[in-house]
Amino acid sequence: MNQKMNRSRFLQIAGLSAASLGLPRSLYARESTAAAPKQRPNIIFIFTDDHASHAISAYGSKINQTPNLDRIADGGMRFDNCFCTNSICAPSRAVILTGKHSHLNSVPTNRETFDGAQQTFPKLLRQAGYQTAIVGKWHLKSDPTGFDFWNVLIGQGPYYNPPLKTPEGVVKHTGYTTDILTDVALDWLKNKRDSQKPFMLMYQHKAPHRNWQPGPGYLHMYDDQTIPEPDTLFDDYANRTSAAKTQEMTVERHLNDNDLKLIPPKNLTPEQLEAWNKAYDPKNEAFRTAGLQGKDLVRWKYQRYMKDYLRCIASVDENVGRVLDYLDQSGLADNTVVIYSSDQGFYLGDHGWFDKRWMYEESLRMPFMVRWPGVTAPGAVNTDLVQNLDFAETFLDIASADIPSGMQGRSLVPLLQGRTPSDWRQSIYYHYFEFPAVHSVQRHYGVRTQRHKLIHYYLIDEWELFDLQADPHELKSVYNDPAYADTVRRLKAELHRLRVQYKATGDQNLFPPPKTE
Ligand code: CA
Repeated sequence: MNQKMNRSRFLQIAGLSAASLGLPRSLYARESTAAAPKQRPNIIFIFTDDHASHAISAYGSKINQTPNLDRIADGGMRFDNCFCTNSICAPSRAVILTGKHSHLNSVPTNRETFDGAQQTFPKLLRQAGYQTAIVGKWHLKSDPTGFDFWNVLIGQGPYYNPPLKTPEGVVKHTGYTTDILTDVALDWLKNKRDSQKPFMLMYQHKAPHRNWQPGPGYLHMYDDQTIPEPDTLFDDYANRTSAAKTQEMTVERHLNDNDLKLIPPKNLTPEQLEAWNKAYDPKNEAFRTAGLQGKDLVRWKYQRYMKDYLRCIASVDENVGRVLDYLDQSGLADNTVVIYSSDQGFYLGDHGWFDKRWMYEESLRMPFMVRWPGVTAPGAVNTDLVQNLDFAETFLDIASADIPSGMQGRSLVPLLQGRTPSDWRQSIYYHYFEFPAVHSVQRHYGVRTQRHKLIHYYLIDEWELFDLQADPHELKSVYNDPAYADTVRRLKAELHRLRVQYKATGDQNLFPPPKTE
């Protein structure tokens, strides 16, 4: 019923759109089918941490169901080729806030402190008359700037009983973090904002970040099920560079006792600990005495890891449902753009790994779904190359605010309207900096097109080329295959062109300097 109404509204507005009549978009964004002028759209940016698109049923997940996240895709547009510029937590957030690549926004790795004095899209939206708020994971060390309201986790924040930093000081909460962040966000929406102004709310979860602690209601979800294994769980890294062989992020060897729940969290209340021990202790005992080895042990660890990861997502899904329900009940849904994304993808046992960092598909790709009633056709799918670099520009465009020339991405509003510009990008640029560091993933930059991916591990001067059509799992680099010599030449030129375009050719390639000890 709702979907039908949205579709008919979409067709009605699409037929009347100012853009199709060649009028400026700023007029279009403010026009309305109603007699009274319509307020500019509200924006709710739902952002999670480490949620791979292949754990969302709208993206065809083989391992879980996410009915509430799917409501966003069903009611709007699912982007199948949204990619991060640098696959790690804080840098992705800094790119989104600034619309600039990592080498220009002060946060190339998780180590730096975000320069809160610089230009960000929340500041610009606030100047344009929006109320701005952020609830949840911030992870940029400095205090948030550009927000009328902020309640953020301290650093990574815990899964249970989170203290939240606010302008008035730290506030303690008892309960499960995903639930609490939703309570705070809903309280702001219902009781604390100025209802006369359009708003932009960043509602940002810690989940499903490592170490994947499920909420009390989901501790036993999947107890009697076996999660399907990915095709590449036992990847041997043949036919790739030395980088793939020297990383430290395998399910087999690098999950620790906290990850595997062989020891309980330290900050639980007695009631929480009792529920926790009921879920994990008997299995710990079975594991310790079972004597599993080799592939059997990898399989056990994979199940342990993946069930907890998916349980965390189940809480996210439930809580996103609470927010969507409130939007429906309050009447806000009709004029609110709802976006779901996560800071990067993640390895769900793919290539034998957990974690992210690489330019390989599973961590490069971000989930990105946008529901914009009356503008985006319900159930639409877009396959253009887009990036988190484009989010700031898109939010500003939705609000009919000017996009500063220093931002490096491009508004996705035309794509959301179903009209990709003919000069849309045909390649994306990527650069990962955090090495030497945990998980030992070599620094690399590269270029991806719809068909190919060229990666340069520049500290060791090794290259990989993947033909994504012939080899979607990226198991065989064809960099040295003479049949691909022209492709290598063409992509090296394209990589250089992108590095010039993004002002990425200077000393920042080695920024921050490698540790010498
Ligand atoms: Ca992350």
